[in-house]
Amino acid sequence: MAAYTIDSVVELTKDLIAKQSLTPEDAGCQELTGRILADAGFSLETVSKDGTVNLLALHGSGAPFTLFLGHTDVVPPGPAEHWTYPPFAGTVAAQDGEELLYGRGSADMKGSDAAMTLALAAFVQAHPEHQGTVGLLLTSNEEGDGRGGVQDVAALLKERALIPDYCLVGEPSAAQTLGDTVKIGRRGSLTAHITVIGKQGHVAYPERLINPVHQAASLIARLAAPLDQGNDSFPPTSFEVTNIKAGTGAENVVPESCYFMCNWRYNNLQSPESIERFINAAIAELKLNCRVQLKVNGLPFLSAQGALLEAVLTAIAESRPEIKPQLSTSGGTSDGRFIAPLGTQVLEFGPCASTIHQIDERVQVKDLKLLPKLYLRVLELLQL
Ligand SMILES: [Zn+2]
Repeated sequence: MAAYTIDSVVELTKDLIAKQSLTPEDAGCQELTGRILADAGFSLETVSKDGTVNLLALHGSGAPFTLFLGHTDVVPPGPAEHWTYPPFAGTVAAQDGEELLYGRGSADMKGSDAAMTLALAAFVQAHPEHQGTVGLLLTSNEEGDGRGGVQDVAALLKERALIPDYCLVGEPSAAQTLGDTVKIGRRGSLTAHITVIGKQGHVAYPERLINPVHQAASLIARLAAPLDQGNDSFPPTSFEVTNIKAGTGAENVVPESCYFMCNWRYNNLQSPESIERFINAAIAELKLNCRVQLKVNGLPFLSAQGALLEAVLTAIAESRPEIKPQLSTSGGTSDGRFIAPLGTQVLEFGPCASTIHQIDERVQVKDLKLLPKLYLRVLELLQL
């Protein structure tokens, strides 16, 4: 195996892109990163469950415990012929004088996986007697349903009382360039499946039927009302209907029921309980007959201050003093939501997210080259 150093992040990212790890496959990515960490002295553990593989690599003992978190799976590339360069080739090409690395997973998030691996290896090689514990957790099921993934490993960590003080998630967080955005939290996500039950009948006899589609429309209008205005850390809670179904297929029949699915991305002013009360109040006011099923996908979390955030901001300021990082809680959920409930400070900090999941996904080579150095600096600030 070629010896990777902190300066070979582009090569390691390319080698990871070449492994076609469509979620929930890992396709050997963890074996490659694991070998680099094992060579540096880390102890490795693989946790496999429900077709998902997770690598936990640890070095040292006790506190503070800094855990880097990532995923090796990627979303499908879509039609390969629509890509400018083959999706699993890992091609570096210049555009407007800027070098870009193309490939599925280049930004989300094999570039960060490579950077975290090389930063950890370099840190331990330079400081074998560092304070506390440093580690990497990689899962192969972040883009899919998450089964057997970080949630299970978090339970295992809790069982062993191995609670990270700090968790840095390498997910792409930047808007345009590395350092411009640090995600300090995430909104919660709650999905509701709601069936409004009316009374089926002939459209010509409205007095003999109860139209559940009309009722669902009224209910949706109520639910779409703003729940809050947000606060300093979070935008307002948002509501979207994602699916609606009704009808027998006949032109002259009002159906018996109308089903819709909807989702709240909610801030820390709300909770699953407060949203449930809101739904029930709307149903009661409208005097509807409904079946409601709720699914909590994630609770909101916020790490608006603390040593991890200070370390990340210091590392950015030292390398890119011209940048004023935005502290953000926008975007979808990430695996950080499974670590935060352990009491861990969780931040997301990685490269530009603008092309993730798209055709021609790419990452700026200058950002990618800087990334392991920033991660290394964070480790130095927290563990020395
Ligand atoms: Zn990702």
